[in-house]
Amino acid sequence: MTTPAIPHVLPTYNRANLAFERGEGAWAITADGTRYLDLGAGIAVNALGHAHPALVRALTEQAGRIWHVSNLYQIPEQERLADLLVEHTFADTVFFTNSGTEAAELAIKMVRKYWDHAGDPDRTEILTFEGAFHGRSTGAIAAAGSEKMTKGFGPLMPGFRTLPFGDHDALRAAATDRTAAIMVEPVQGEGGIRVLPDICLKGLREICDATGALLVLDEVQCGMGRTGRLFAHEHAGIAPDIMMVAKGIGGGFPLGAVLATARAASGMTAGTHGSTYGGNPLACAVGARVMEIVADPAFLAEVNRKAALFRQKLEGLVAAHPDIFEAVRGQGLMLGLKCRMAPADLVRAAYDQHLLTVPAADNTLRLLPPLNIEDAEIAEAVERLDRAAASLAA
Ligand SMILES: *Cc1c(COP(=O)(O)O)cnc(C)c1O
Repeated sequence: MTTPAIPHVLPTYNRANLAFERGEGAWAITADGTRYLDLGAGIAVNALGHAHPALVRALTEQAGRIWHVSNLYQIPEQERLADLLVEHTFADTVFFTNSGTEAAELAIKMVRKYWDHAGDPDRTEILTFEGAFHGRSTGAIAAAGSEKMTKGFGPLMPGFRTLPFGDHDALRAAATDRTAAIMVEPVQGEGGIRVLPDICLKGLREICDATGALLVLDEVQCGMGRTGRLFAHEHAGIAPDIMMVAKGIGGGFPLGAVLATARAASGMTAGTHGSTYGGNPLACAVGARVMEIVADPAFLAEVNRKAALFRQKLEGLVAAHPDIFEAVRGQGLMLGLKCRMAPADLVRAAYDQHLLTVPAADNTLRLLPPLNIEDAEIAEAVERLDRAAASLAA
């Protein structure tokens, strides 16, 4: 058997035939100058759009000073970002990573270490939910458990039990005083913009308090102002023990973090975890600037105002195309259009209208604009979606 030729870039993505040379705010621009309105934002990464002047300044000023310092030394930029995150959240301590997946890995390790440190090393089962996405490492695919991500990659890391989404009886039966942790996204992103109702998040907190299990929230996609609060769990008025963050926190520079209470992190002493690049000065200089901008209550108020405007227009769009769309979903500027078919055709039709959107599971089209998108751009986006839907119906 001859091995077929393979592209120089490993072909694990079905890429659109589009390449962007630069960006300005909510616009991504190809080499020939064609402007695409970007409702994907690098999958909720470019929280402040492309080439935000304050972020460009933070990055280039840091680049002129020092790029990389090992975690063997003090890193003031890292401490500054950790201070900001602790000041604005439930957390007492932060570990920086380069991605959401690495944050998931540490969250899992922290849970295991917590119980080992507490003298109960066999308490390892982490409950997760169907439709979840926590990344692509061996641990993260085992946690999510979906066949699509795990097939061919066995044997899977043990210690996870995936429960049906929204099945309260299954959850109550599964969560016992042997449960190490419950790990969940307050709003499922890849799973199709499925919002966990506040009452469910409160219920998970109560179950964790009753059993002693740690509550681990994956806010990689729904955090950093995306839902209109700095972190999505704030809507429910609860706090996790451990939280994963990435995507928006770097505004486009690779950065992630695990935030934790002192109790949850109590086993993580010197030598128990590390990263060469995690908390790199370039990443943290940008991350601190993103935090300063996004954590401002006036900025979050604007996110909520824009979200209400966007949502109202999307409800009109759904009403105008009942054969294409079923409903609007989501929270804040983490929005989804539940479609009557797989969203791939709609994504392509939107490209024809020079509009970038992102498909998700459960027949959902994701709309994740930069948080500072302008009102006129929201109106423009909905007009382009309207034309895309009309082209499909025709
Ligand atoms: C994207 C994502 C991850 C993985 O993050 P990477 O930076 O791609 O490793 C984990 N959890 C959620 C909820 C995500 O959306």
